[in-house]
Amino acid sequence: MAAAAPDLATIDAVLPTCRACPRLVAWREEVAVEKRAAFRDETYWGRPVPGFGDEHARVMMVGLAPAAHGGNRTGRLFTGDPSGDFLFAALHRTGFASQPTSRSRDDGLVLTGLRMAAPVRCAPPANAPTPSERHTCGPYLARELAILDPAVVVVLGGFGWKAVRATLAEQGWHVPRPRPVFGHGAEVVLTGSDAADARPPLTLLGCFHVSPHNTHTGRLTPAMLDAVLRRARVLGGLD
Ligand code: SF4
Repeated sequence: MAAAAPDLATIDAVLPTCRACPRLVAWREEVAVEKRAAFRDETYWGRPVPGFGDEHARVMMVGLAPAAHGGNRTGRLFTGDPSGDFLFAALHRTGFASQPTSRSRDDGLVLTGLRMAAPVRCAPPANAPTPSERHTCGPYLARELAILDPAVVVVLGGFGWKAVRATLAEQGWHVPRPRPVFGHGAEVVLTGSDAADARPPLTLLGCFHVSPHNTHTGRLTPAMLDAVLRRARVLGGLD
């Protein structure tokens, strides 16, 4: 990416041109050509998916990667797939989203107090990026975290947890050892790495991913997700 991207808008503009991961470039474009039958009349986005939401958010949400027929189709994270249906209904109930659904980039949805991003910005085969792909995409997430400087990062799932934890450690946050383990409702307060580092604390807040694997089995219920989001509002000083 452009090493000196000065703001979120610039990152969002540069990111869709990235072709750094050959396997993911091939997959995202293949999916965009072959399409799912239900969407055969649509033009898929088929590119890296930028962050979405409030550019002054106190809460950042980090998932895994765009879904092949969700974000990779619509060009907006969690938009147009069952995971997003579950997530945006909760974001609306808890005051972050202006509407309970997210269908397309031009559906008028506005997020307030929250911005969402992902450790990997291209749809991966089987929703499984490699460690190398996560490493290659890492600077985008790192830059967004550094610019946004959130009070809270809500992390959906263990993959995102490891990615955010590593990124924050690289940015000089003191991440305790043994490393904090992901769990639903896990809460870890990070501080600057030494006494001279007086930045305000940042809280990592774990949440099971909103994938159908979790929501269809009851592992993650609407009440559980709402509780995490309400906690994020409190930690972010929004309530
Ligand atoms: Fe670029 Fe990230 Fe997509 Fe890799 S995953 S091609 S680094 S945007």
